[in-house]
Amino acid sequence: MDEMALKIEDLGYDDFFESERARRGSEGVRVARVISQSRGGYKVKDADGEYIAKVTGKRIHTASSREDYPAVGDWVELSDVAGGQAVIQGIVPRKSVIKRKSVGKGNGYEGKSDVQIIATNVDTAFVVEAVDRDYSLNRLERYVAIARDGGVRVAVILNKIDLISAEERDAKIAEIEERFGDIDVITASAATNGGADMLRGHIGKGKTYCFLGSSGVGKSSLINRLLTAGGLRTGEIGSHSGRGKHVTTAREMFFLPNGGIVIDNPGVREVGMTDTDAGIEESFDGIATLAGDCRFTDCTHTQEPGCAVLAALESGTIDRDRYANYLGLRKEAERYGMTVSEQRNKHRSFGKFMKTAKKDLLRKGD
Ligand code: GDP
Ligand code: ZN
Repeated sequence: MDEMALKIEDLGYDDFFESERARRGSEGVRVARVISQSRGGYKVKDADGEYIAKVTGKRIHTASSREDYPAVGDWVELSDVAGGQAVIQGIVPRKSVIKRKSVGKGNGYEGKSDVQIIATNVDTAFVVEAVDRDYSLNRLERYVAIARDGGVRVAVILNKIDLISAEERDAKIAEIEERFGDIDVITASAATNGGADMLRGHIGKGKTYCFLGSSGVGKSSLINRLLTAGGLRTGEIGSHSGRGKHVTTAREMFFLPNGGIVIDNPGVREVGMTDTDAGIEESFDGIATLAGDCRFTDCTHTQEPGCAVLAALESGTIDRDRYANYLGLRKEAERYGMTVSEQRNKHRSFGKFMKTAKKDLLRKGD
């Protein structure tokens, strides 16, 4: 790609931020967008290049919650820009936020806020749900809520439609429209590239997007489809032949060939997985129902005697893929910060929840 002059509008800057800055009286202050975050600081980008930026000590002292810290997607006000480094003096007010409740203790913010900002200034969230066996309208609803709560517009992507008939597809669309009202539903198949044009049609120049949805629904596949035909990674756009310079940096923001911007970081990938107790189990209704029959309420369904899930696996009532998928999601949730005791509580309360749910179910049946 040619070295075209980059404008901050290409990075998502628009009138909203312009008027917020005017309101703050910071029009003259240099701004850049946070494109990734690491222990070493924030990587920020403006039309001229990228900098490693740190927040001022003063800001750290006055921060009352995690929300006061910059997050990927933010426009930040800089000072002391030199030698690839900068200091973050402030955050331009956010247009929208994707957040989750912070998982537990030991995060250094006890007694402050338990909200963790995952991404900011997202215009539209594509909530991806696959129409395979693990399709769940409740789960879809959970992700739609996460986006809408933070002021982010939502479009639903029904992925893997190569796996179902046109009739089934139409029934699902109708069901989604009924549940969510006025919402865009994009049908896609990352496998056959079906729906790619439709998806592209929803992406505008200089607008910021993210893909929300459980592991396995096809987010990476869809993003890769969008990136092909010349998509660039964060580090590559407008950089001066710095071959390999940014290769080791985790990519968290992508610039699409048609000018759209996608935030895809680990936080975005995990949002929704750990913040609702019943979240994972809810996505696997069949397994959850079986779990109510396990001998131990805190059964992990991996080795316990009297485990109804293992028994069902043995007899072929649930299939191995589905079981593996379930365990995979659980493991991921563990990895993302739940302490052992929280995990235990979670299982305990889930056990209780299932007992009650089962009673309700039986009651309904008579
Ligand atoms: P992610 O975890 O949401 O990023 O999901 P991935 O993009 O990694 O996809 C998970 C699995 O689903 C992979 O094995 C993909 O090849 C498969 N997959 C993704 N999209 C489709 C699709 O449209 N149709 C089918 N049949 N499989 C798909
Ligand atoms: Zn079990």
